[in-house]
Amino acid sequence: MSPRPPRKGSAGWAGSTRSARLPRDWHKRRAYVLARDGYRCTAAEHVPECSGTATDVDHVDRHGGDEYANLRALSAPCHKAKTQREAYAARVFDRRAPERHPGLR
Ligand SMILES: [Zn+2]
Repeated sequence: MSPRPPRKGSAGWAGSTRSARLPRDWHKRRAYVLARDGYRCTAAEHVPECSGTATDVDHVDRHGGDEYANLRALSAPCHKAKTQREAYAARVFDRRAPERHPGLR
């Protein structure tokens, strides 16, 4: 039982509230998952902006852990769309103010 202090100020993680929870070796995990998935976007549904090339690593289950089984490669546009859907569904405040999925309530 050693509570880890939240990391502060790690700039630029796509404005995600998840940054406080990322493991210390996240950059390693991220590189591993991108390579494992062949740098291809693995989204079930791609947004029009998706080029098919993955640059982001996503938590499949946002409440899940950081194990590799719960991580997958996504393109930035697909990742953003998924994050916005989740934020909207969870009614989590998101400073990018997702407004584009009025049907998901
Ligand atoms: Zn995609």
